[in-house]
Formats: sequence, C-alpha cells, structure tokens
Amino acid sequence: MAVVELQNLVKDYAGFRAIHGVDLTIDDGEFCVFVGPSGCGKSTLLRMIAGLESITGGELRIDGTRVNEQRAAERGLAMVFQTYALYPHMTVRENLAFGLENIKTPKDEIKKRVDDAARMLQIEEHLTRRPKQLSGGQRQRVAIGRAVVREPKVFLFDEPLSNLDAELRVVMRGEISQLHRRLGNTMIYVTHDQVEAMTMADKIVVLKAGLIQQVGSPLDLYNRPANQFVAGFIGSPRMNFMQMTVAEIRNDAILLKDDEGRSFEAAVSPEGVAAGDTVTVGVRPEHLEIGTERGRPVTVETIEQLGGESYLYCQDQSGRPITVHLSGQTRIKAGEEAKVFLPAEAVHVFKEDGAALER
Ligand code: ATP
Repeated sequence: MAVVELQNLVKDYAGFRAIHGVDLTIDDGEFCVFVGPSGCGKSTLLRMIAGLESITGGELRIDGTRVNEQRAAERGLAMVFQTYALYPHMTVRENLAFGLENIKTPKDEIKKRVDDAARMLQIEEHLTRRPKQLSGGQRQRVAIGRAVVREPKVFLFDEPLSNLDAELRVVMRGEISQLHRRLGNTMIYVTHDQVEAMTMADKIVVLKAGLIQQVGSPLDLYNRPANQFVAGFIGSPRMNFMQMTVAEIRNDAILLKDDEGRSFEAAVSPEGVAAGDTVTVGVRPEHLEIGTERGRPVTVETIEQLGGESYLYCQDQSGRPITVHLSGQTRIKAGEEAKVFLPAEAVHVFKEDGAALER
C-alpha cells in the first residue's frame, strides 16, 4: 500500500511562493504524472514529496502517516533523476548495490536484487562496465535499476528522459510503463512533455504557476479540458483558438458569431454565458473539416504531407492561423483557398476568465 496525499501543500522560497496550496491524492499503484510549462513548480512538488525540499505549509501523508518532518531516507521512496546521478568510478553492479550496502543489506540479498533488476532492465551484460562505457539509454536503465533494488513504496521520476534522443525516449517510455505494470507500485513522474504525460499516466496533474489547473485521466483532459490553459497544453498540434461573440442561447447549445458575422453552433452547456459575451472558441486540428463546401474561408499557407497524415497551416480572413490535421493524404495544395468547418460537437468554448463551458 502506498497512497500519497497532499493537503493544502505550500512552498515558499525566500518570499516567493512556488506552490500555492495543492490538494491531491495519488492512489495506491497509480502512475501519476505532474506536467506543466517550465517554472510551474512540478519539480518542487516532487522534491517536497521526496523529502529533498522542506514543506512550508500543509500536510504530506504517505499511507495515512504525516511525513512532513521525516528525512528523505525514512520515507520509503526512490527517485530517478534526469542526470542519472551515477557514480562514475563504480561499475554498474557497484552502482546498483551501493544504496543497499549503505543500509547494511546482507550480501546475498544484494546480489539477488541486483541480478533481478539487471535482468528486468536488460543490463545484465553491462554489470562490469562503468557508466561512461554505456549509452544514454543504458545509463538511464541503471539509474532506474538503482531505484528498483531498493524496493521502494513509491518511485519518483524527475524528467528522466529529457537527456535522451527522440527515438530512445519512445523506447524508454514503453519500458517505464512496463516496469509499472510489472511492479504495480505507486509512481510519480514529472515532465514538461504532454506526450509523455498522455501515453504513460493513469492520472495527469496539470500545473501552472504553482497551482493545479486540472486532475484527470489523459482522455478526460483531452475531451473535457477545464480551462483554456489545459486545452492549449494537452494535444498536439495545439488546439486552435478564435475569439467570438455569443449570439443566442439555446437549450443545450449556443449560437456563436465570428468577426465576419458568420454564425454557427457549439454543442456546449450555455450555463455561465449570456448573449453578447465575448468567448474564446477552441477546436483541435484533428476535429476540423477542410473542403470547398462549407465553413470559414481560409488560405492554405503551408502543407506537410507525411503520407499517413497531413498538416495544413491556414490563415482565415482576419489573419488568424488555423491548423488542420488530417489522417491520410490531401489533394489541397499550398496557396489554395479552402473552407474550414467547425463541427458543433467538436467545439470547446471558454469564458473570459478561461473556464470551459461544460460539454
Ligand atoms: P522546469 O521544468 O523548468 O524544471 P518546474 O516546473 O520543475 O520547471 P520548479 O523547478 O519546481 O519548476 O520551480 C518552480 C518555481 O520556483 C520557479 O519559479 C523557480 O524559479 C522557483 N524555484 C525553484 N527552486 C528555487 C530555489 N531553490 N530558490 C528560489 N526559487 C526557486
């Protein structure tokens, strides 16, 4: 069992509030990802859980016990760092064993745990090498192995894949997910990469300026972003945003008007808006339809044809950029005029304060 509970957690750095009262429960066995732009406080929050950063206010509980004052080593957690933090003068086996030797684990127990972890992470044949004789991916596996041998209650990962190239990141993403399935431990993972968050998480916590913006499963955040920030952060390419006016309120929809006086429907709850309000309309590139029949006139500026999918970078009559993502190939050519249609059920609507209308 390892439930991690954050209750009104606050962190101040010499007069600067980095974390503003965070409430969060991470369930036993859950893979929880903290995601957000640089400086949002995700590493600070992870380091507070790890015991590497003091807690200014609120309470941190692991399995129901307050651990605010407990030292890092007593919390039963193991952390994997972006920089791997391996000892360069030790072999892989010595690196893996070091933490266990420190806490006087019996020799044969150390050997068993190191061998098991090395097998699981496929670094058995590298046990006699030193870190500088390993590739980036192999070093990262050793760093993960060092956490595995300690058999922690909770694994903490701080941007562990940032130093790897794109291809290896995809491979390691899969391996960490597999490790989670195999061990079933609670894992908390920090990244600024929303693709990592979407592909690995059971639960995503989106942070901005030390505040939680939304907590949910990857598809919750994709389908029902709580506000414009989350909508813009989750999903790639980014959601298209356009300012519009509410023209008419209907039962379970609103009628919107754009700058050019064109009106169309959004299938959202009208609660919280009135006719005449300015709102921001958001549609994901993959939900737009492009053709010649219906919709807003655009000029197609650039096209990227990748064979299996296509990206069309367009501009509407007010000069607003609109990105369209199609699966498959398109006959449309750069420089052509086209029409982009926003299907009513694909439209997200955000009020002036950024909060989303319910869908
Ligand atoms: P990044 O992705 O860039 O690592 P982050 O989301 O992990 O960003 P943190 O490193 O947690 O962000 O930092 C949160 C805020 O706290 C930032 O504004 C940062 O400048 C500030 N901060 C972090 N560490 C300290 C410190 N030791 N002293 C003062 N301010 C700090």
